[in-house]
Amino acid sequence: MSWKQAVECFCRRELEPLAAEARRVAMSVFGDAVFLRGLIEYTNYCRVNCLYCGLRRSNVDINRYRLNREIILETVMKGFEFGLRTFVLQGGEDEGFPMAELAEICRGIGEITRGEAAITLSCGIRSRKEYRMLKEAGANRFLMRFETSDARLHRYLRGGLTLARRLGALEDLLAEGYQVGSGFMVGLPGERDETIIRNVELCAQLGVDMAGVGPFIPNPQTPLAHVPQEPLEKSLFATALVRIACPETHIPATTAAGTLAADGRERMIACGANVLMPNLTPENHKKDYLLYPGKVCLRETVLKGFDDLARRTGSVNRRISFDRADGIRAGVPYQVSK
Ligand code: SAH
Ligand code: SF4
Repeated sequence: MSWKQAVECFCRRELEPLAAEARRVAMSVFGDAVFLRGLIEYTNYCRVNCLYCGLRRSNVDINRYRLNREIILETVMKGFEFGLRTFVLQGGEDEGFPMAELAEICRGIGEITRGEAAITLSCGIRSRKEYRMLKEAGANRFLMRFETSDARLHRYLRGGLTLARRLGALEDLLAEGYQVGSGFMVGLPGERDETIIRNVELCAQLGVDMAGVGPFIPNPQTPLAHVPQEPLEKSLFATALVRIACPETHIPATTAAGTLAADGRERMIACGANVLMPNLTPENHKKDYLLYPGKVCLRETVLKGFDDLARRTGSVNRRISFDRADGIRAGVPYQVSK
Protein backbone atom coordinates (compact mmCIF):
# COMPACT_ATOMS: atom_id res chain seq x y z
CA MET A 1 0.00 0.00 0.00
CA SER A 2 1.46 3.39 -0.97
CA TRP A 3 1.55 6.31 1.46
CA LYS A 4 -1.06 8.07 -0.65
CA GLN A 5 -3.41 5.08 -0.42
CA ALA A 6 -2.83 4.86 3.33
CA VAL A 7 -3.75 8.52 3.78
CA GLU A 8 -6.90 8.00 1.69
CA CYS A 9 -7.91 5.07 3.91
CA PHE A 10 -7.47 7.30 6.96
CA CYS A 11 -9.50 10.15 5.47
CA ARG A 12 -12.32 7.69 4.62
CA ARG A 13 -11.98 6.21 8.14
CA GLU A 14 -11.35 2.68 6.88
CA LEU A 15 -9.34 1.16 9.71
CA GLU A 16 -9.27 -2.52 8.77
CA PRO A 17 -7.34 -2.35 5.47
CA LEU A 18 -4.88 0.07 7.07
CA ALA A 19 -4.42 -2.13 10.14
CA ALA A 20 -3.96 -5.24 7.96
CA GLU A 21 -1.21 -3.50 5.99
CA ALA A 22 0.45 -2.24 9.21
CA ARG A 23 0.41 -5.79 10.66
CA ARG A 24 1.92 -7.18 7.47
CA VAL A 25 4.73 -4.59 7.59
CA ALA A 26 5.40 -5.14 11.32
CA MET A 27 5.47 -8.90 10.83
CA SER A 28 7.93 -8.63 7.93
CA VAL A 29 10.34 -6.50 10.02
CA PHE A 30 9.98 -7.87 13.57
CA GLY A 31 8.23 -11.22 13.11
CA ASP A 32 5.88 -11.94 15.99
CA ALA A 33 8.13 -10.32 18.65
CA VAL A 34 6.92 -7.63 21.04
CA PHE A 35 9.82 -6.05 22.94
CA LEU A 36 9.77 -4.86 26.54
CA ARG A 37 11.15 -1.60 27.99
CA GLY A 38 10.97 -1.18 31.77
CA LEU A 39 9.78 2.32 32.68
CA ILE A 40 11.00 4.12 35.79
CA GLU A 41 9.37 7.49 36.48
CA TYR A 42 12.19 9.01 38.49
CA THR A 43 10.93 12.55 39.15
CA ASN A 44 7.62 14.36 38.77
CA TYR A 45 9.03 17.88 39.28
CA CYS A 46 8.86 19.97 36.12
CA ARG A 47 9.84 23.54 35.24
CA VAL A 48 7.65 23.49 32.11
CA ASN A 49 3.97 24.32 32.00
CA CYS A 50 2.48 22.21 29.21
CA LEU A 51 -1.28 22.75 29.19
CA TYR A 52 -2.03 19.03 28.79
CA CYS A 53 0.16 17.53 31.49
CA GLY A 54 -0.54 16.82 35.15
CA LEU A 55 3.12 17.38 36.06
CA ARG A 56 3.02 20.97 34.80
CA ARG A 57 4.71 23.55 37.01
CA SER A 58 1.48 25.28 38.01
CA ASN A 59 -0.24 22.13 39.26
CA VAL A 60 -0.12 22.47 43.03
CA ASP A 61 -2.38 19.48 43.64
CA ILE A 62 0.23 16.75 43.31
CA ASN A 63 2.81 15.32 45.70
CA ARG A 64 6.16 16.00 44.11
CA TYR A 65 8.85 13.32 44.48
CA ARG A 66 12.23 12.35 43.15
CA LEU A 67 13.75 8.89 43.43
CA ASN A 68 17.29 8.72 44.76
CA ARG A 69 20.16 6.84 43.18
CA GLU A 70 19.84 3.86 45.48
CA ILE A 71 16.15 3.31 44.75
CA ILE A 72 16.64 3.73 41.00
CA LEU A 73 19.48 1.19 40.91
CA GLU A 74 17.52 -1.22 43.07
CA THR A 75 14.53 -0.91 40.72
CA VAL A 76 16.72 -1.50 37.66
CA MET A 77 18.27 -4.55 39.32
CA LYS A 78 14.85 -6.09 40.02
CA GLY A 79 13.87 -5.62 36.37
CA PHE A 80 17.24 -6.92 35.17
CA GLU A 81 16.92 -10.07 37.26
CA PHE A 82 13.46 -10.52 35.79
CA GLY A 83 15.04 -10.48 32.32
CA LEU A 84 14.48 -6.90 31.10
CA ARG A 85 17.35 -5.48 29.01
CA THR A 86 16.08 -1.95 28.41
CA PHE A 87 15.29 0.68 31.02
CA VAL A 88 13.68 4.04 30.46
CA LEU A 89 14.25 6.75 33.06
CA GLN A 90 11.50 9.30 32.54
CA GLY A 91 10.78 12.52 34.35
CA GLY A 92 9.81 16.15 34.17
CA GLU A 93 12.39 18.84 33.44
CA ASP A 94 13.48 18.84 37.07
CA GLU A 95 15.96 21.58 37.92
CA GLY A 96 16.54 20.01 41.32
CA PHE A 97 17.87 16.79 39.79
CA PRO A 98 21.40 17.62 38.63
CA MET A 99 22.40 16.17 35.28
CA ALA A 100 25.69 15.10 36.88
CA GLU A 101 23.67 12.92 39.27
CA LEU A 102 21.70 11.43 36.37
CA ALA A 103 25.04 10.69 34.69
CA GLU A 104 26.25 8.90 37.83
CA ILE A 105 23.06 6.85 37.80
CA CYS A 106 23.68 5.87 34.16
CA ARG A 107 27.20 4.76 35.17
CA GLY A 108 25.75 2.79 38.06
CA ILE A 109 23.27 1.04 35.77
CA GLY A 110 26.11 0.17 33.39
CA GLU A 111 28.04 -1.40 36.27
CA ILE A 112 25.26 -3.45 37.81
CA THR A 113 24.03 -4.74 34.45
CA ARG A 114 27.60 -5.32 33.15
CA GLY A 115 26.75 -3.06 30.22
CA GLU A 116 24.12 -5.50 28.98
CA ALA A 117 21.11 -3.22 29.36
CA ALA A 118 20.21 -0.32 27.12
CA ILE A 119 19.72 2.93 29.04
CA THR A 120 17.05 5.26 27.71
CA LEU A 121 16.46 8.75 29.10
CA SER A 122 13.35 10.87 28.72
CA CYS A 123 13.81 14.12 30.60
CA GLY A 124 12.98 16.80 28.05
CA ILE A 125 14.97 19.60 26.52
CA ARG A 126 18.55 19.95 27.80
CA SER A 127 21.69 21.52 26.39
CA ARG A 128 23.74 19.63 23.83
CA LYS A 129 26.58 19.57 26.35
CA GLU A 130 24.34 17.83 28.88
CA TYR A 131 23.16 15.32 26.27
CA ARG A 132 26.82 14.58 25.50
CA MET A 133 27.72 14.14 29.17
CA LEU A 134 24.85 11.69 29.65
CA LYS A 135 25.83 9.77 26.53
CA GLU A 136 29.40 9.51 27.76
CA ALA A 137 28.05 8.16 31.04
CA GLY A 138 26.39 5.28 29.19
CA ALA A 139 22.94 6.48 28.05
CA ASN A 140 22.18 4.97 24.64
CA ARG A 141 18.73 6.19 23.81
CA PHE A 142 16.49 9.22 24.38
CA LEU A 143 12.73 9.65 24.09
CA MET A 144 11.22 13.05 23.42
CA ARG A 145 7.99 13.44 21.54
CA PHE A 146 7.52 16.54 19.39
CA GLU A 147 3.84 16.28 20.57
CA THR A 148 2.37 18.01 17.51
CA SER A 149 3.90 19.19 14.24
CA ASP A 150 1.56 22.18 14.14
CA ALA A 151 3.88 25.01 15.18
CA ARG A 152 1.12 27.32 16.47
CA LEU A 153 -0.59 24.59 18.43
CA HIS A 154 2.73 23.42 19.83
CA ARG A 155 3.59 26.84 21.16
CA TYR A 156 0.13 27.31 22.68
CA LEU A 157 0.14 23.90 24.36
CA ARG A 158 3.72 24.01 25.61
CA GLY A 159 3.66 27.24 27.56
CA GLY A 160 5.32 29.29 24.80
CA LEU A 161 8.08 26.78 23.97
CA THR A 162 8.43 26.39 20.22
CA LEU A 163 8.37 23.39 17.91
CA ALA A 164 11.66 24.62 16.43
CA ARG A 165 13.27 24.41 19.86
CA ARG A 166 11.98 20.83 20.38
CA LEU A 167 13.18 19.77 16.92
CA GLY A 168 16.52 21.45 17.58
CA ALA A 169 16.92 19.34 20.72
CA LEU A 170 16.03 16.18 18.77
CA GLU A 171 18.64 17.15 16.20
CA ASP A 172 21.23 17.54 18.98
CA LEU A 173 20.39 14.06 20.26
CA LEU A 174 20.71 12.52 16.81
CA ALA A 175 23.99 14.33 16.25
CA GLU A 176 25.32 13.02 19.60
CA GLY A 177 24.64 9.48 18.38
CA TYR A 178 21.63 8.58 20.52
CA GLN A 179 18.98 6.20 19.28
CA VAL A 180 16.11 8.64 19.34
CA GLY A 181 12.43 8.15 19.97
CA SER A 182 9.87 10.84 19.29
CA GLY A 183 6.19 10.94 18.46
CA PHE A 184 2.99 12.77 19.18
CA MET A 185 -0.35 12.80 20.94
CA VAL A 186 -3.61 12.26 19.11
CA GLY A 187 -6.78 14.20 19.88
CA LEU A 188 -5.27 17.50 21.01
CA PRO A 189 -7.68 20.42 20.83
CA GLY A 190 -7.42 22.23 17.51
CA GLU A 191 -5.83 19.28 15.71
CA ARG A 192 -7.09 18.31 12.24
CA ASP A 193 -6.64 15.22 10.03
CA GLU A 194 -3.87 17.06 8.22
CA THR A 195 -2.08 17.56 11.54
CA ILE A 196 -2.02 13.81 12.12
CA ILE A 197 -0.75 13.17 8.58
CA ARG A 198 2.00 15.82 9.07
CA ASN A 199 2.89 14.27 12.43
CA VAL A 200 3.46 10.88 10.80
CA GLU A 201 5.44 12.46 7.98
CA LEU A 202 7.61 14.27 10.52
CA CYS A 203 8.39 10.96 12.26
CA ALA A 204 9.52 9.58 8.89
CA GLN A 205 11.55 12.69 8.10
CA LEU A 206 13.34 12.60 11.44
CA GLY A 207 14.20 8.94 10.89
CA VAL A 208 13.47 8.12 14.52
CA ASP A 209 14.24 4.70 16.01
CA MET A 210 11.03 4.80 18.01
CA ALA A 211 7.77 6.67 17.48
CA GLY A 212 5.32 6.94 20.35
CA VAL A 213 1.70 7.63 19.46
CA GLY A 214 -0.72 8.07 22.29
CA PRO A 215 -4.22 9.40 22.80
CA PHE A 216 -4.39 12.73 24.60
CA ILE A 217 -6.39 12.20 27.80
CA PRO A 218 -7.74 15.42 29.33
CA ASN A 219 -6.45 15.81 32.86
CA PRO A 220 -8.84 17.44 35.38
CA GLN A 221 -5.90 19.16 37.09
CA THR A 222 -4.96 21.10 33.95
CA PRO A 223 -6.40 23.95 31.87
CA LEU A 224 -7.48 21.36 29.25
CA ALA A 225 -9.72 19.55 31.73
CA HIS A 226 -12.86 20.16 29.66
CA VAL A 227 -11.59 19.18 26.24
CA PRO A 228 -13.69 16.25 24.95
CA GLN A 229 -11.97 12.87 24.79
CA GLU A 230 -11.37 11.68 21.21
CA PRO A 231 -12.04 7.96 20.70
CA LEU A 232 -9.13 5.50 20.75
CA GLU A 233 -9.75 4.73 17.05
CA LYS A 234 -8.00 7.92 16.03
CA SER A 235 -4.81 6.77 17.76
CA LEU A 236 -5.17 3.36 16.10
CA PHE A 237 -5.28 5.03 12.69
CA ALA A 238 -2.21 7.08 13.59
CA THR A 239 -0.34 3.98 14.77
CA ALA A 240 -1.04 2.13 11.54
CA LEU A 241 0.02 5.18 9.50
CA VAL A 242 3.33 5.39 11.40
CA ARG A 243 4.00 1.69 10.81
CA ILE A 244 3.38 2.12 7.08
CA ALA A 245 5.45 5.33 6.81
CA CYS A 246 8.29 4.11 9.08
CA PRO A 247 8.45 0.31 8.67
CA GLU A 248 11.54 -0.19 10.83
CA THR A 249 10.76 2.11 13.73
CA HIS A 250 9.83 0.72 17.13
CA ILE A 251 6.28 1.71 18.12
CA PRO A 252 5.12 1.28 21.71
CA ALA A 253 1.59 0.16 22.50
CA THR A 254 1.16 3.04 24.90
CA THR A 255 -0.13 3.01 28.45
CA ALA A 256 -2.46 5.87 27.50
CA ALA A 257 -4.15 3.56 24.96
CA GLY A 258 -4.54 0.93 27.70
CA THR A 259 -6.09 3.57 29.91
CA LEU A 260 -8.74 4.57 27.37
CA ALA A 261 -9.82 0.98 26.66
CA ALA A 262 -9.20 -2.30 28.47
CA ASP A 263 -7.82 -3.82 25.25
CA GLY A 264 -6.22 -0.60 23.99
CA ARG A 265 -2.66 -1.93 23.94
CA GLU A 266 -3.58 -5.14 22.09
CA ARG A 267 -5.45 -3.09 19.54
CA MET A 268 -2.36 -0.94 19.04
CA ILE A 269 -0.28 -4.09 18.48
CA ALA A 270 -2.90 -5.18 15.96
CA CYS A 271 -2.23 -1.84 14.19
CA GLY A 272 1.54 -2.32 13.98
CA ALA A 273 2.92 -1.49 17.46
CA ASN A 274 5.74 -3.80 18.62
CA VAL A 275 6.83 -2.59 22.08
CA LEU A 276 5.32 -2.69 25.58
CA MET A 277 6.57 -0.63 28.49
CA PRO A 278 5.84 -2.27 31.84
CA ASN A 279 5.92 0.25 34.65
CA LEU A 280 8.60 -0.41 37.29
CA THR A 281 8.13 2.79 39.32
CA PRO A 282 7.98 1.93 43.03
CA GLU A 283 4.38 1.44 44.14
CA ASN A 284 4.29 4.34 46.60
CA HIS A 285 5.14 6.89 43.86
CA LYS A 286 3.24 5.58 40.82
CA LYS A 287 0.08 7.42 41.83
CA ASP A 288 1.95 10.74 41.87
CA TYR A 289 3.17 10.46 38.27
CA LEU A 290 -0.18 11.31 36.80
CA LEU A 291 0.36 12.82 33.36
CA TYR A 292 -3.31 12.01 32.80
CA PRO A 293 -5.97 10.42 35.04
CA GLY A 294 -6.71 6.72 35.48
CA LYS A 295 -3.30 5.46 34.28
CA VAL A 296 -3.77 1.74 33.73
CA CYS A 297 -0.45 0.66 35.24
CA LEU A 298 -1.56 1.85 38.69
CA ARG A 299 -3.29 -1.49 38.88
CA GLU A 300 -0.29 -3.42 37.57
CA THR A 301 2.91 -4.52 39.29
CA VAL A 302 5.94 -5.87 37.45
CA LEU A 303 5.33 -9.55 38.00
CA LYS A 304 1.55 -9.58 38.02
CA GLY A 305 1.65 -7.08 35.19
CA PHE A 306 3.97 -9.31 33.20
CA ASP A 307 1.58 -12.27 33.06
CA ASP A 308 -1.12 -9.89 32.01
CA LEU A 309 1.05 -8.36 29.28
CA ALA A 310 2.02 -11.84 28.03
CA ARG A 311 -1.65 -12.82 27.85
CA ARG A 312 -2.56 -9.64 26.00
CA THR A 313 0.31 -10.14 23.56
CA GLY A 314 -0.73 -13.77 22.98
CA SER A 315 -4.30 -12.68 22.28
CA VAL A 316 -3.12 -10.92 19.11
CA ASN A 317 -0.77 -13.78 18.11
CA ARG A 318 2.44 -12.13 19.24
CA ARG A 319 5.01 -13.22 21.81
CA ILE A 320 7.03 -11.23 24.29
CA SER A 321 10.76 -10.95 23.60
CA PHE A 322 13.39 -9.98 26.18
CA ASP A 323 15.79 -8.87 23.46
CA ARG A 324 17.10 -5.34 24.06
CA ALA A 325 16.10 -4.58 20.47
CA ASP A 326 18.32 -1.71 19.46
CA GLY A 327 17.07 0.63 16.75
CA ILE A 328 17.55 -1.00 13.36
CA ARG A 329 19.54 2.00 12.15
CA ALA A 330 21.31 2.27 15.52
CA GLY A 331 24.55 4.15 15.44
CA VAL A 332 24.02 5.65 12.00
CA PRO A 333 24.25 9.38 12.56
CA TYR A 334 21.41 11.29 10.93
CA GLN A 335 21.37 14.77 9.52
CA VAL A 336 17.90 16.19 9.99
CA SER A 337 16.86 18.21 6.97
CA LYS A 338 15.31 21.50 7.93
N1 SAH B 1 9.06 15.74 30.45
C1 SAH B 1 9.38 14.85 29.39
C2 SAH B 1 8.95 13.43 29.62
C3 SAH B 1 7.74 13.20 30.47
S1 SAH B 1 6.20 13.56 29.74
C4 SAH B 1 8.83 15.37 28.09
O1 SAH B 1 7.92 16.18 28.11
O2 SAH B 1 9.34 14.95 27.05
C5 SAH B 1 5.95 12.13 28.72
C6 SAH B 1 4.85 12.25 27.69
O3 SAH B 1 3.58 12.18 28.33
C7 SAH B 1 4.78 13.53 26.91
O4 SAH B 1 5.69 13.50 25.85
C8 SAH B 1 3.33 13.57 26.45
O5 SAH B 1 3.21 13.15 25.09
C9 SAH B 1 2.62 12.60 27.38
N2 SAH B 1 1.48 13.24 28.08
C10 SAH B 1 1.51 14.28 28.92
N3 SAH B 1 0.26 14.64 29.30
C11 SAH B 1 -0.59 13.78 28.68
C12 SAH B 1 -2.02 13.62 28.65
N4 SAH B 1 -2.82 14.44 29.31
N5 SAH B 1 -2.54 12.62 27.89
C13 SAH B 1 -1.73 11.79 27.20
N6 SAH B 1 -0.39 11.88 27.19
C14 SAH B 1 0.19 12.87 27.90
FE1 SF4 C 1 6.89 18.73 32.00
FE2 SF4 C 1 6.98 16.81 30.10
FE3 SF4 C 1 4.72 17.31 31.48
FE4 SF4 C 1 5.56 19.11 29.71
S1 SF4 C 1 4.91 16.97 29.25
S2 SF4 C 1 4.83 19.57 31.81
S3 SF4 C 1 7.80 18.94 29.92
S4 SF4 C 1 6.62 16.51 32.29
